[in-house]
Amino acid sequence: SWGSLSDKNVYDWSSEEEEPDGRARPIQVLLVKDDHTFELDEAALSRILLAEEVREREVVAVSVAGAFRKGKSFLMDFMLRYMYKQASEDWLGDNEEPLTGFSWRGGSERETTGIQIWSEVFLVDKPDGRKVAVLLMDTQGTFDSQSTLRDSATVFALSTMISSMQVYNISQNVQEDDLQHLQLFTEYGRLAMEETFLKPFQSLIFLVRDWSFPYEFPYGQEGGMKFLEKRLKISENQHEELQNVRKHIHSCFTNISCFLMPHPGLKVATNPNFDGRIAEIDGDFLNNLKVLVPWLLSPRNIDVKEINGSKITCRGLLEYFKAYIKIYQG
Ligand code: GDP
Ligand code: MG
Repeated sequence: SWGSLSDKNVYDWSSEEEEPDGRARPIQVLLVKDDHTFELDEAALSRILLAEEVREREVVAVSVAGAFRKGKSFLMDFMLRYMYKQASEDWLGDNEEPLTGFSWRGGSERETTGIQIWSEVFLVDKPDGRKVAVLLMDTQGTFDSQSTLRDSATVFALSTMISSMQVYNISQNVQEDDLQHLQLFTEYGRLAMEETFLKPFQSLIFLVRDWSFPYEFPYGQEGGMKFLEKRLKISENQHEELQNVRKHIHSCFTNISCFLMPHPGLKVATNPNFDGRIAEIDGDFLNNLKVLVPWLLSPRNIDVKEINGSKITCRGLLEYFKAYIKIYQG
């Protein structure tokens, strides 16, 4: 059903969020300030979610969350390519084409804890004929001190409540502190949910970058599931704390999955002049990227945001966003 996505819907974006050159861009809608207060850019969020073409559409909210410098923007730029070019098989792009999108401002980007949303909401035809709106969010935090840990946990909780698919981007392995952070996020989230009598969360996808044990658990989703099963297994000889983290995570999400990604190669990881061209990315990584991105974003796989069993529109999501942030603002 690729053909039915009209170019008009994809490119018909017009608002103040555009750069003077007409390009869509990431918009910082939630910001944690130095004094640890939260600032929601309601005007910007409204412009995005209340645009006429999307506001009454059911919304798929995809968040990629995790610490800085772990390849989130790099991945999201490929997700953007897929969304922009989904009518064609060659969405990955030309060999020499620089990668743009979330990272197009490169080095000048300040590392701010918060949520960025791509200014363009994509309209996609699901196989059942529904046209849904797809929103891409970049959720970032730092975990280096007690206060930033708290800020980050709150931001992650918010993005988990707002999204229908939360991609938890982690490096190399699923470490115990990754799980503890996750427990903290979801604990914050659950408290808020209880106050509003709403159910917990939808899909959680562990995305492990630079996976280096493919002989133990192969790259991709199947290897990921087997790996995660082992990692999240609860056993009696485990410390009670470890057991609780696992029980908690299981109880919070409707779907939990995992994808193991290979290392993208030294040029990506270490060359400061690397511009994202696929000619310089390892073949193994590209092959898995070709699986990962459609697995996350193909029309049949995207899940509409549901709250208390009801599907939510872009307009509805804006209201929830505002309600949730109030809880944390106290
Ligand atoms: P973000 O802060 O999480 O958004 O990270 P970026 O996407 O800006 O990437 C940070 C750095 O890691 C850049 O130099 C990327 O080229 C590099 N990078 C991107 N993906 C990967 C990956 O999968 N593995 C490694 N080792 N480096 C990556
Ligand atoms: Mg980034």
